[in-house]
Order: sequence, then structure tokens, then C-alpha cells
Amino acid sequence: MDYQALANLLFPNVSDTPETLEEKYPLRNVPEGAVITRMAPSPTGFVHLGNLVQGLTSERMAHQSGGVLFLRVEDTDAKREVPGAVEVLINTLKHYGIQFDEGATIDGDAGLYGPYRQRQRAAIYHVYAKKLVSEGQAYPCFCTEEELGAMREKQEANKETTGYYGDYAIWRDRSMEDIQAQLDAGNPWVLRFRSTGSIENQFKFDDLVKGKLTITENNVDHVLLKSDGIPTYHFAHAVDDHLMRTTHVVRGDEWLPTLPFHIQLFKALGFKLPKYVHIGPLMKMDGTSKRKLSKRKDPELALTFYKAEGFPVAAVYEYIMTLLNSNYEDWRRANPTAPATDFAFSPKKLNPAGNLFDYAKLTDVSKNVIAMMDAESVYDLLLEWAKEFDPDFGAKLEADPAYAKAILAIGRGGKKPRKDMAVWTEAKPYMGFFYDEYLQIPVFDEKFSAETVKAALGKFLEKFDISDDSGVWFDKVKAITEELGFTTDMKAYKADPTAFPGTVADVSTFIRQATTGKTNSPDLYTVMQILGYDRTVARIKAVLESL
Ligand code: GLU
Repeated sequence: MDYQALANLLFPNVSDTPETLEEKYPLRNVPEGAVITRMAPSPTGFVHLGNLVQGLTSERMAHQSGGVLFLRVEDTDAKREVPGAVEVLINTLKHYGIQFDEGATIDGDAGLYGPYRQRQRAAIYHVYAKKLVSEGQAYPCFCTEEELGAMREKQEANKETTGYYGDYAIWRDRSMEDIQAQLDAGNPWVLRFRSTGSIENQFKFDDLVKGKLTITENNVDHVLLKSDGIPTYHFAHAVDDHLMRTTHVVRGDEWLPTLPFHIQLFKALGFKLPKYVHIGPLMKMDGTSKRKLSKRKDPELALTFYKAEGFPVAAVYEYIMTLLNSNYEDWRRANPTAPATDFAFSPKKLNPAGNLFDYAKLTDVSKNVIAMMDAESVYDLLLEWAKEFDPDFGAKLEADPAYAKAILAIGRGGKKPRKDMAVWTEAKPYMGFFYDEYLQIPVFDEKFSAETVKAALGKFLEKFDISDDSGVWFDKVKAITEELGFTTDMKAYKADPTAFPGTVADVSTFIRQATTGKTNSPDLYTVMQILGYDRTVARIKAVLESL
């Protein structure tokens, strides 16, 4: 067979050569040891936690080593693509703060190694397809869906491995005349790899996460180009990661079964094999057993979920770091205010079996992250969230930023900052009472008569002076307690609760409920300082009148 003639027949319009492409996309000028890596998601419209895990791993590996992170859009599967998915993908990754140095952007490509959208790279793949054909390493296959289906059925009936290999690879060694006849008839064809591997052979392979693997050679003549001339993932992976000069491929371990083929393909193309970082799946507990997070069953897999729930990006980031590197939490305890990027991330610390996703833990991490923020940052992030998900609340926050920031500053900045919120959805329940429209009517403990509550509130109003410091303020509350015959001696009360109608805590609760509508609130003295004299008095008076 004249393979060069076959190559010319199949790819008459390819004029570029591998050599010109090598020149066009030269080795990158980066320091020794720098990691060049990429995110290569498919635009399905669904961006998930797994994307973020992979993205953060790649981002850390690249930027920690002085390397490059780029975004490549793997849009070869036009059937799966939904309109606007590329924008959703790019915007979501941007929202989560993954900083790409080059690649696909909303406004097109940025960088010298593009195009970064695979459908725009058809001509490049064809250069290498032609080269493989000319060397006898690839061939056209004209099998119809029906023929392939029948083959599969036969293999299943014989309990054989399914696939296009060995004697089943019926177009592997066909004559030029047969091929020409099919082409003349206008029949569609795919390009297949001519595998020289044998399942009898095994070799060792080192994955940066999985460790030493024993790999069995691939013997299947996998498809390289589909009938529309668009490559499969495998072929595009080899060509793109070679020409974009990727040094490390970080991806989900669902690609491990085809790794033998990828290794074979790099070799056949004469490409240097990159290092592989295969990340295990995210799992969750379902009853007493673990299972992979599923798009269908688990809303928490989608990144939009975290945005709507109101998790700050920094909290999701922080949580993923704790998942990926087991020593991250200790580091964080020792460095509570350092940027996460100071941490020495290592792909070797990833759990090869994957990670258990724990919502409660994420919430806990988020509480800490929000507690460490200053009021200004909390305000900005909360406002951004509220504008999209609770516009009425957003408008209130925006109408008086100084007021909102004073509220959000309560309990911040000290050694033990308050941990009131894990998500922005909790902000309104926590601080809504500061806005008159959200103030709720208090329901007092039935243990106390309306007369008692009224007496306490009336006395408070008589004594209340906004210029008191917190010590004097509380002395007044204690004085009211005594006047009502309640006690300020909590020990004595505990020893014999029947001896007193109530305590200073009950009196404080009356005043707190009248002021905030709730039995729980941040420090009441501070609350009154922020509300101011008139509003505090008006609120207490309104409650008095309703009793
Ligand atoms: N498009 C592939 C995916 O979304 C990319 C895998 C890779 O990173 O190579 O799974």
C-alpha cells in the first residue's frame, strides 16, 4: 500500500506540515520546572465542583512554579453543546477567581498558542492525521453504525471484549481500490488509529496522584477523526497538549481507562508525553455508603448552587483547598490571615481515591472565612449577592452603605470574631431587624405577664440615655431588674429558681425583643447605638402600646 498516496487522497487540502506547526508554536520560554497546564472543559452549560477542583489544582501547580495556565474549550461534541455554554463556562470560572494567563475569553482568544476552541483547530488536526496516514499509522474506516452494532452483538454473544480490534478491524488492511470505491460512492468514513499494542503486554507508569500504575497496552483501533473531520477527545488531547506545550495534564480519573491509548498516541505522533495528574471523584455519603456526586441527584454539584446559596468564593476556595491537601487546615490555623496562595500546594497530597464532599464542613469553613473578613468586604460581597438573589434587601443595603457597614462591623476585628453567617442567605435573618420593614413583632415568653414586660420596658425608657457607655447602660438594666423584684444574682437563682420571678437575663430579653423583635441579636448596647435614640425609643414605645 502506498500510504503517502492514501494520505494525499484523504487529505488533499492539507498544505501545512508538522514542522511548520512546531515552528509556529515553539517551546515556551519558562523557567526550569515551570508547569504549563490547562483547563480543558467541554461547554455543556453545567459547570461543576469537579471543574473547580481540577481548576484549582491546575492553577496552583502552574502559578506556584512560575508556569502558565490556559483555558481550552473542548467543543468537539457539537451535539452536547447548549447555546451560551461557553460564556457560562468562562464567566463561572472567572467568578471563582481562576486566573488564566491565556486561552479562550469572552472576547475571543488571548495568547500565541491558539486557537483555543477546538472546533477552530480542524486544519491543525488534519496535518497530524495526514502524517499518521502517510506513515501507515492510521486508516479510513467505512463501517456503518449497523455493521458496528452487529459486531458488538457478536462480541457480546461470544463473551469477547467489545471494540474495533484484531480480526474485527475490517478496514485495517483494505486495498486502495476498496477505499477509492467507497470514496467514489460518497460514503462517510472515520479515521482510525492502527494500534500495534497487545493486551499481553504491560508496563509501569507513574501518575502524580495515583502513583505507580501497571498499564496494559491498548490493542483497539480507536477513532481519531469522526466522519465530519472533527477529532475525538483522544486525538485532540494529544495534538493540542503537544502544540500548546502542556507539561502536566490535570484531569478527572474517568480518563484512566483510555490513558494506555493516549500514551500510545503520543508515541506514534513523536510527541513527548506530558506528566499526568488524575484526580479522583468527589463523593458524598448516601446513608451509610459513599457514592459519586451525581448531576441528576445532587444540586450541590453545580457551581451555581454555591452562588445562589451565598457562599463567598473565598469560602468555596478555602474548602476545596482543605479537601485537596490534608495539611492545609494546619497551615491555615498557623497562618489565619495569609492569602491561600502562600500555601505550598502539592498534587502528591491529593487523595488518589477521591474526596468526600461534606456540606457541614463547607459551612463551617465559610463561617470562619466570613468572620475573618472586614466589614467593608462583607458589605461588598453581600450586596453583590443580594442584588441578584434578594433585590429588596440589596436596595436597603445600598441605600445607606455607612449604616449597613456599621451593622456588619459588629463583633469583627477582635481576637474572637463573631461567626454569625456561613452564607449570605443568613444575613437577612441575622441583621434584617435593623431595617424597619423587616422588623418582626416580638412574642414574649408566656411565663411573664404583659404587665411585667410593660413595667420593665417603661422603666427602661425612663432611664435610657444614648450617651451612656455600655457599663452605665448595663447598670441601669440591673437597677430595673432589682426594682422589679427580679435578681441579678444568677448563682442564687440557679440554687432556687422559685425564689425569684426572673433574672437580669429575662429583663434584657424583654428589652432585646422590643428593640429587635428577636430573642437573639448581636450585642444589644451596640444595636441601640446603631439604631440611635429616636428609633430605639420608637420601637420600644410601639411594643408598649401593643401590649
Ligand atoms: N473535555 C474533557 C472533559 O471535560 C477534558 C479532560 C482534560 O482535561 O483533558 O472531561
